[in-house]
Amino acid sequence: MTGETSPRLLRAGRVIASADGKVLGPTELEIGADGRIAAMRAIAPQSLTPEEAGALMMPSLANGHDHGRGLRTLAFGAADQSLETWLPDLARQPRVDPWLNAAVALGRLAQGGVGAVNHCHNTQDGRALLEEAEAVSRAARDVGIRVAFGWPFFDRNPCVYGDLARLAGFLPDERRRAVLAAGAGMRDLQTNLALFEKAKALEHEHFVLQYHPVAPQWTRPETLAAIARASAADGRRIHMHLLETELQREWAKAHHPGGFLAWLDGLGLLSDRLTVAHAVWLEPEDIALLAERGVTVSINMSSNLRLRSGVPDLAALLDAGVRVAFGLDGMALDDDEDMLRELRLAWHVHARTSSCGRGLDPSAVLHGALEAGRKSVLGSTEGAAIAVGAPADILVLDFAALSADNILPEPDTISLVIGRAQSRHVRCLLVGGRRIVENGACVGVDLPELERRLTASARASLAASPPDLAAIAEMQGAVAAFYGCGCHRSGGQDPI
Ligand SMILES: [Zn+2]
Repeated sequence: MTGETSPRLLRAGRVIASADGKVLGPTELEIGADGRIAAMRAIAPQSLTPEEAGALMMPSLANGHDHGRGLRTLAFGAADQSLETWLPDLARQPRVDPWLNAAVALGRLAQGGVGAVNHCHNTQDGRALLEEAEAVSRAARDVGIRVAFGWPFFDRNPCVYGDLARLAGFLPDERRRAVLAAGAGMRDLQTNLALFEKAKALEHEHFVLQYHPVAPQWTRPETLAAIARASAADGRRIHMHLLETELQREWAKAHHPGGFLAWLDGLGLLSDRLTVAHAVWLEPEDIALLAERGVTVSINMSSNLRLRSGVPDLAALLDAGVRVAFGLDGMALDDDEDMLRELRLAWHVHARTSSCGRGLDPSAVLHGALEAGRKSVLGSTEGAAIAVGAPADILVLDFAALSADNILPEPDTISLVIGRAQSRHVRCLLVGGRRIVENGACVGVDLPELERRLTASARASLAASPPDLAAIAEMQGAVAAFYGCGCHRSGGQDPI
């Protein structure tokens, strides 16, 4: 039992109906055949079973930025460190089946209560992007969560933010040729747009494409401009990393002395169709511009800690009226894709003492997890509240376990959810009325079995094709030397 009395009825002793944090008492939902909430009514407490009485319903969580890392980075030896030297370490990753990798990642998110995710795709094999997208599309259908697939546009600066020849100068002679050639194999804009057209055939109810210029330092200005035009024409959303690290900020300042975000705005990129991930190194005028244009910012607190990026100014973003979502970035604090803990981490890190020591209002965190994240993934906040007519995207938590030690006559529901809920408290998850997690476990896939298969196949792949660890270490040394000499600050301004 998971708080349900029949396949189409859902009952719980408590309901957080929306991000405003209002808590309702005993409630019964009727789920229609169309996957939407057909009826919602208050019921008598005594009509609930003990299990129903101990259940809490709330809208499903949205993960505003991720990469579908079924095989986790720590599992293949990419230790947490600064982003710029961590990126070469990703070459340690063994090749695995893309469906298996995605199904494991999406399954773990579902078991953590995530019903919708921005999946920014990192290819294992750049030539197989379309095949990998097909695998993620299939995994989304099998697991049952809503996926916005960020189609990567990555066509410059493959190794460092700046001149490859300068980087090559820090490497031994035998390594230089490969580095100098790294930029030659990048997919050009026209080829990528043609592939994007083909990929539209992969879309289904739970899988939509978004434009994903990976970041301004990794995407040519003409590509950014073309994406801005395409998004304005077809209404598709754009998802982009932005100013994740201090070195990126230094690169941006050097290449755009007239104002980096103002330059992006001039390209037409800043709109309410855009989500930017990280945004750790914004200036006050940048924050004001993002608010004015209606851009969503996805904060990725765990990732920023693990990759030494810094701490984004959530309070300043919220004060300015920026729409803020939260994402795991495949780098949860405990490497376990626990979205509920991520919300708590963001809340505590950004607590302010100025408002009588009470800190950031938890409803700001709920708004991010429910509304802003959902808009970032789906382009709309429909389903971010439990209401008649809304899609039945509903998370059921084990509130009895969450409040087992409560001694008050009426426990503080929001404080307990934000203060201590974890993936292990997820009892059930519905997406579009379909039960995709039951008794804490995925229904559409056998996640423990898939995890076993993924680990076994990755071990075999690593043994068959071990990474060149010496080359990776040399590249990390060269990257550190490149930034140490300030090479990223030279090279002239970007055009347009
Ligand atoms: Zn990311």
